[in-house]
Amino acid sequence: MTDAARGEVTFSPTEPFRFCPADGTKLSDPRPSGGVTCPLCGRSWYRNSMPAVGAAVVKDGKALVTIRAREPEKGRLDLPGGFLEVGEHPADGLVREVKEELGVEAEVVGDSVLQATHTYGKGGDWVLAIGFRVRITGGEIQAADDVAGVRWVTLGEIDDLDFAWAHDRELVRAALERENA
Ligand SMILES: [Zn+2]
Repeated sequence: MTDAARGEVTFSPTEPFRFCPADGTKLSDPRPSGGVTCPLCGRSWYRNSMPAVGAAVVKDGKALVTIRAREPEKGRLDLPGGFLEVGEHPADGLVREVKEELGVEAEVVGDSVLQATHTYGKGGDWVLAIGFRVRITGGEIQAADDVAGVRWVTLGEIDDLDFAWAHDRELVRAALERENA
């Protein structure tokens, strides 16, 4: 499917559920709570934000940012991270993503320093972003194919950086403020 064709599909009130994902029965409009129950199997479906984690990798008062190698937002800055897998703890997901994107072992430091909601992609799907400080515990950085490079940045320069997504800037800010506290 081309992007143009995808764009012509209007979303249902229970986006992304027009039909029961379990058995394909057509679903009616949602209740005021936002849920809809399948008349055949009785399962209830809700539209929720997708949980994602982001890493502010910190070291010596600086944070690591990654340069995007691919569209969308090629050449702009973001942070290691991604969507959680089913049943995955946020800290485990972050360690996994950092390993995949940077090739290093890492650990989460303390509690989450930023929670944010934002939309992602053409359909405007809602994401719940949970950000943590992360320290590298082993290995040398070897960026994955979708990362063009990395930079270590200070708190003083982050307002001038070209982040692809505003919540990444705020995660770096929150993490470095916590580091410097
Ligand atoms: Zn069903």
